[in-house]
Amino acid sequence: MAKLNKILIANRGEIAIRVIRACRDAGITSVGIFSDCDRTALHTRMADEVYHVGPSPSRESYLRGDKIIDIARKCGAQAIHPGYGFLAENAEFAKACEAAGIIFIGPKAETISLLGDKLEARKLAVKAGLPVVPGAEFEKIEPAAIKLTARKIGFPVLIKAAAGGGGKGMRVVNDEAALAEAVESASREAKAAFGDGRVFLEKYLQEPRHIEIQIFADRHGHAIHLGERECSIQRRHQKVIEESPSPVMTPELREKMGRAAVSIVMASGYIGAGTVEFLVDKELNFYFLEVNTRLQVEHPVTEAVTGVDLVREQFRVAEGENLSIKQEDIRPRGHAIECRIYAEDPHDNFMPSIGRINQYRVPTGPGVRVDSGVVAGSEIPLYYDPIIAKMIVWGENRAQAIERTIRALEEYRVAGVHTTIGFAVAVMRNGAFQEGRYATDFIDREFPDRQFAGIMGKTELKAALAAAVFDYTNRQKITISMKNDRKTPGGWITYHRARGVRRLKD
Ligand code: ADP
Repeated sequence: MAKLNKILIANRGEIAIRVIRACRDAGITSVGIFSDCDRTALHTRMADEVYHVGPSPSRESYLRGDKIIDIARKCGAQAIHPGYGFLAENAEFAKACEAAGIIFIGPKAETISLLGDKLEARKLAVKAGLPVVPGAEFEKIEPAAIKLTARKIGFPVLIKAAAGGGGKGMRVVNDEAALAEAVESASREAKAAFGDGRVFLEKYLQEPRHIEIQIFADRHGHAIHLGERECSIQRRHQKVIEESPSPVMTPELREKMGRAAVSIVMASGYIGAGTVEFLVDKELNFYFLEVNTRLQVEHPVTEAVTGVDLVREQFRVAEGENLSIKQEDIRPRGHAIECRIYAEDPHDNFMPSIGRINQYRVPTGPGVRVDSGVVAGSEIPLYYDPIIAKMIVWGENRAQAIERTIRALEEYRVAGVHTTIGFAVAVMRNGAFQEGRYATDFIDREFPDRQFAGIMGKTELKAALAAAVFDYTNRQKITISMKNDRKTPGGWITYHRARGVRRLKD
């Protein structure tokens, strides 16, 4: 296989920029794509070459596999990096890349479809000898049979979509009365979101911890694990703060979970970076949850403690090289915490906060890495996930990592939209978190009325004041620039041309 010298990044925001940086480190030309509303986005400005892919809705742009492959072919990119989300776990897209003679940076299409189906993955896990959460599947949605199954498992149960992801099609059911209706509606939601209405039941574990193992495999039969990430701080079953190592991890448990993770990926013929997710109960029993066949949002905490550049390693594996690291080389050092900074309002049930970022200043200093997708003046469009950035902080130990995280969060300034920064401060200051005593119900348990205000006061107040002052002095300027933006479509083309935008010939 040939050395890569040009990679198209089929994504936007912070993850596109993460991959652009890895390309630059490796001397590879990066190709970006952008939708209408992303024409001045940071990733569009940073890529070596960029091409317009379509209108703002992702269905018409970042999800248009056909257009993306076409662009890759015309600009001579040998490989496509999908980032996470969008087409990252789309087996059809991986297959289409292969058919077009373009390397898809990820596992083979068959592996993606096998592991992307939660039911099939569960069966494979059982075959590979992994413990799974007690549960059952059913062929038809037949109320009497489902009731019987649920009784056998014991309430509460969790309904899950076989094709699920992002918490869609998931319902907790506490008693029989609510079961039939919940199954119907979960199936309907799954059908609408994934075109596949198959659902199954799992025992709803009480206060589990979400702990996942990073794995890596090459084309030559080598597979390793790079330790764990704990991702139990979640809202709506989606992660917001992650750390490595997990406060409850022991060397023996890491060894066991690591071995289990490697055995399932080996059984699936895996190539590249992947994550095996587990739930862990109070007795430290672990249960297989699913495999994510891509780079995770939270991959930098693993990079921080292992020193491995996971994206660079993905390139190497895509080029057909052996893994550059062996299992015995993985010796995690210190502690890393990632806070996802979303444009969301924690006081309003984490509703997305859309708009223009007026002021933006990221923290730096010892141990701080910020993977940001925006700058001052950036818009948070309503079309995509409202992530602004990820802040990853490393310390010699967990206490130092927490200390530094608080310092860095307090330095962070974002004005113009609500963010989860203050919420992250509240978590870092929380006693149970500091002691490492937490599970996936952390937010409901520690902040039942969603009152983060008392704790986040100072940071938020400063940001609000800064926003007001900035708004007042700049309103005029912003209005004019917005008008120009809209009125002179040629304006942005000129702007980009200066930075080397190339247009495709037809
Ligand atoms: P998705 O792929 O939709 O994100 P996952 O299967 O990865 O769904 O689960 C996401 C989160 O949902 C987990 O991290 C956990 O908090 C919760 N969860 C999933 N399965 C169970 C279960 N059986 N019992 C308790 N919580 C669960």
